[in-house]
Amino acid sequence: MIRCPPIVPLDPSRTVAELHELARLTSDAQGAQRVCWTPIWQRARDWLTERLEELPVAIETDEAGNRWATLEGRSARRLLIGGHLDSVPDGGWLDGTLDVLAGLEVLRRIAADGVPEHSVSLVDWADEEGARFGLSLYGSSAASGALDLEIARGLTDRDGRPMPEVLTEHGVRFDRVKECGRRLRDAAAYLELHIEQGPVLESLALPLGVVTGTFAAERHEVRFRGQAAHAGSTPMHLRRDALAGAARLTLVVREIARAEHGVGTVGRIEAQPGVVNIVPGGSILTIDQRHESAAALSRMLEQSEAKSRSIAEAEGLEVEWRRLWRIDPIPFDPVLVDLAEASVREATGASHRMASAPLHDAAEVARAGVPTVMLFVQSLQGLSHTPDEDTRPEHLELAVRALDRLADKTMAWISAAAARER
Ligand SMILES: [Zn+2]
Repeated sequence: MIRCPPIVPLDPSRTVAELHELARLTSDAQGAQRVCWTPIWQRARDWLTERLEELPVAIETDEAGNRWATLEGRSARRLLIGGHLDSVPDGGWLDGTLDVLAGLEVLRRIAADGVPEHSVSLVDWADEEGARFGLSLYGSSAASGALDLEIARGLTDRDGRPMPEVLTEHGVRFDRVKECGRRLRDAAAYLELHIEQGPVLESLALPLGVVTGTFAAERHEVRFRGQAAHAGSTPMHLRRDALAGAARLTLVVREIARAEHGVGTVGRIEAQPGVVNIVPGGSILTIDQRHESAAALSRMLEQSEAKSRSIAEAEGLEVEWRRLWRIDPIPFDPVLVDLAEASVREATGASHRMASAPLHDAAEVARAGVPTVMLFVQSLQGLSHTPDEDTRPEHLELAVRALDRLADKTMAWISAAAARER
């Protein structure tokens, strides 16, 4: 007689223990080292696969390298729960891993209840962070169709190794990666639980919040051109100092973001030639601007461009803008946002709605037309992408409970939608 091991119902404390275990396996003194397409990331995946093999699920890796674990249900519709095991170098223990391990715990609970009404898939997206090749949301954008394969084909890592070559070693056939999009076709809903990575929930003393969508973003590189000159012999009123232009614009970007209640960052600034006794003849700065509202973001951009021209005129410079990247705001499903809020209230007694400035795989899934929502759990001091990233264990447990309730409510919602179609 074959005896199956007993499956224990939801145990959020197990998720916390497993997060610690995974962190021990994949971190060093500098933090988490689960950079995608590296042996340590592979170790994290193998560890996850061992846990999944204890469940009655089908485990598959798709054309892009995303890993799926599916519990077959009675209907062909599917509930997806997702996250990412990969990290930035010297990263934290919760970014992405909480999503996957909380999803694992919910999958265990659903499996323990018997064959579900609808199939449930846990997906571990490949290369969310883009830490090695500079391309974020790789696996989920391959699925949504937004991935630009030609750009990806030309990317190399720090050692000059092309992305297609490295991915081939992980079983990815580069010309076929977008075929993984078929897996979203029968998806009825997508849920993702993530750490907030910002200070808002902590400032409100709330463990959990509901994400209404992701911010619109614009990224530009701005160059000022003046005249390089001798730092001793050139009087102040005759200078065309390109770094002065960049410095003035940096402060303007900050003021505009404050006035529009968005965020604006000059993350890199460079003086050319960058020598102690030469007035800079050139300067380069990068500007990252984000807002929940596309209209407000375009105002922020227009004002910054106009200000850069008036600064250039005042300083005797030329200015040139080049767009590096942009994305529209992506709203999540309003019904799922309501269900998420009810789930968070049931688990914690209070909730808060907020948009996310960081992008997540959920944004790509929503973009593909799958009804989507995210939960955020409080991050201590708002820190992420650092080994100091942390969340209280009791908040992690509440997050698992809220995700579990949301999965139940979403399953019922999928059934009701199916009934309406009949
Ligand atoms: Zn993440």
